Amino acid sequence: MPDSCCAIGCQNRRTCSLKTLGLPFYNIPSRNTPIDKRRRFEWIKALRREDWKHWPDNKISKQKVCGQHFVSGRRSEDSNDIDWVPTKFVYNKDAEKSATKKRKIRTRYCHINDKRLKNELPSFQESADPGKTDDVIDDITETEKLTESEKEVLKLKETIKSLQNELTERNKKMFYLQKENEMLKGEKSRHRFGYNKIKDIDKTVNFYTGVPTSAVFDWLLDLIKDSVKLFHSSLSCEDHLLIVLMKLKLGLMNRDLAYRFDVPECTISKIYRLWLTVLAGYMKHLIVWPDRVTIRQNLPECFARKYRDCVCIIDCSEIFIERPSCLTPRAQSWSNYKHNNTVKYLIGISPAGAVSFLSEGWGGVR
Ligand SMILES: [Zn+2]
Repeated sequence: MPDSCCAIGCQNRRTCSLKTLGLPFYNIPSRNTPIDKRRRFEWIKALRREDWKHWPDNKISKQKVCGQHFVSGRRSEDSNDIDWVPTKFVYNKDAEKSATKKRKIRTRYCHINDKRLKNELPSFQESADPGKTDDVIDDITETEKLTESEKEVLKLKETIKSLQNELTERNKKMFYLQKENEMLKGEKSRHRFGYNKIKDIDKTVNFYTGVPTSAVFDWLLDLIKDSVKLFHSSLSCEDHLLIVLMKLKLGLMNRDLAYRFDVPECTISKIYRLWLTVLAGYMKHLIVWPDRVTIRQNLPECFARKYRDCVCIIDCSEIFIERPSCLTPRAQSWSNYKHNNTVKYLIGISPAGAVSFLSEGWGGVR
C-alpha cells in the first residue's frame, strides 16, 4: 500500500508516477540522539498534528512527509539549513516568510562571492551583475531559483579560486628560483678557471700559456679565430686557446683540464686536436733557418768567447703515443730507451735561443 504524506492539506501519496518525478518521502526523525530528538520535536511542531497527542512514538515514526514541504524539495542534514525542518504548509504563512528571509541571506552571500570572484574569473560572471545587487536581493522569485546545481557551481568557483591562489604562489616561487638560478650561474662562472681570471696579470698568462703577455695572447687569438670553431657553449674563444696553450706549456692531462674548465674530457681532446692543427698552420713560418751573418750578429757573449762557429744546437724530443694496433707502426714506434711507443722530433735552436729547425716525426725505434 502506498504511503501518504501526513502534512495537513497535502494529498501526495507515494505512487509510481510521483516516484518517477523524483518526489521524496521522509519518515519523522526517530533516532535516539539529542540532535534527532530535537529535530523530531521541531518536525511534529511544524506539522501541527494535534491528533498525534495520544499516538505512541513508534506509530508517529512511521508517518511520512513529502518533499513538497521543503524549500529545496529535499530535506537537509545541516541543522543551520532551512530544510532541516519542513516549512512549506498551506497554513504556514510565517514559515514561508522565514524561508524567504533565509533565502535572501543566502542569495546575498552568493552574490558577494560572485563579486569577489569577478576579477579572477570573468567568464564565470554570466549570472552575477554587480550593478543590480539590490535587485537580486529584493527579487524573491530569483532567490528561489538557487538549486543544487547552483550550489555546485559556487563550490567549483571556490575550488578554482583556491587553485588560482596556489598557481600565483607557485609562479612567485618559480620567479625567485629562476633569479636564484641566474645568480648561482653567475657565481659559478666567476669562480671557474678561465682566461678572464688570469688575463690581468702578464706573469700569470706567461706561466700558464708560455705567451709573454695577454696582448700577445689576444694577437694570436685574432690571427686564428676565423679558422677555428667553438666546441662548447660555456667556453669562450679565449678559453679554447687557453686550453691548447696550457696543454702545450704545462703538459696537463685532459682530465685535469676537463676538471678545471668544467667540461667533458672528450671536449678537451677535440679542442686540442683541431685547434693545434690550425695553430701550427699559422705558426710554422716562424721557424726560420737564419743566415750565417745574422747568427754572428746576434751571438751571445758566452758563445763569442768559446764557440764562435756555432750555428745551431740540436736535440731530440721524444713524445709518448698510444700503442698502434697495426704491428708495423707498433714496431717502428717502440722505444727501448723509454719502454713505450714514442715519436721523435729533431729540434734545432740558434745560439740566440730561437727555434730554427723542426724535423718531421720519426718512430721511436730509430
Ligand atoms: Zn505532502
